[in-house]
Amino acid sequence: MWRVMMPRKIAFGENAAKEFNYPKNSLVITTTTPDIYDKWLTYMGIEEYEVYNKVTPDPSIESVEAVRKSYEGKKISAYIGLGGGSSMDVCKYLGKLTGIPKILIPTTFGTGAEMTTYAVISFEHKKKLLQDEAFLADAAVVDPYFLPGTPFNIMRNSACDAAAQASEGYDSKLSNPLTKLFCKEAFDVLEDAIVNDKPQLLPYGAMLSGIGFGNSSTTLGHALSYVFSNEGVPHGYSLSSCTTVAHKFNKSVYYERFKKICKKLNFEPLTLKQGFEDAADVIMPDRGHLDNNPIPVNREDIIQCLDEIINTNPLS
Ligand SMILES: [Zn+2]
Repeated sequence: MWRVMMPRKIAFGENAAKEFNYPKNSLVITTTTPDIYDKWLTYMGIEEYEVYNKVTPDPSIESVEAVRKSYEGKKISAYIGLGGGSSMDVCKYLGKLTGIPKILIPTTFGTGAEMTTYAVISFEHKKKLLQDEAFLADAAVVDPYFLPGTPFNIMRNSACDAAAQASEGYDSKLSNPLTKLFCKEAFDVLEDAIVNDKPQLLPYGAMLSGIGFGNSSTTLGHALSYVFSNEGVPHGYSLSSCTTVAHKFNKSVYYERFKKICKKLNFEPLTLKQGFEDAADVIMPDRGHLDNNPIPVNREDIIQCLDEIINTNPLS
């Protein structure tokens, strides 16, 4: 038995955010500043709304509670998460707390978070990856309108994350025929976007990747990457070498193609401040990723992968 979940309504394509019918009395939640979101909201043609823009990156449970308290007793018909992962994560958690519908609109394209049942919220300064059906969007609106102006580094890291998620999701033990279909198509689209310089295809590829990996899981590549993220390396950048080495270890059909994407995006080799033993102590308990890896991984394998990431250039 397997099942696949995705938002009840998906609006995709040019003008998707402009032509969407937003309910009145919506609360727009965003991390950006008025000079940016005013332009977005005008484009969207949204009316009679309120904006909450005090969401900070890596939102904490306290910041979610702060939004809920600010609007307690007021009539809010929907939350609109407009921005990157943080705005959407706050919306997802709020929707679960209050039962108010949520519309998710990504403005950077990579995580596919608008499609998934995952949310990342910090509890006592520790990021936690949560999964709940209640986090699923009532509507996801994916519009390439938001793409131009994205800084190259953010675009590059997001594209790498989307490709890593699609290929790890394809190989995951939790995959099924339908998730493989989404992951395979996602990777084909993302590869075309990156290798043939067609950035306008990234939003579609990231969306498909979100449905695919969101209903299976990521695996060894993501498990290896968090020790680098903990030292401040952006998520997508750390995946360039980590997922390449993981694909090699897993003999993934995506090994060569993923590596080619990373080379095209010109990622530098990674460095690690902590020792391999300490890093392995952090990685080994990450059963959520490691148990879904297509082949078993032990501590020695982890250390060998880290050695390969640091001491050889896996992208050469
Ligand atoms: Zn990821």
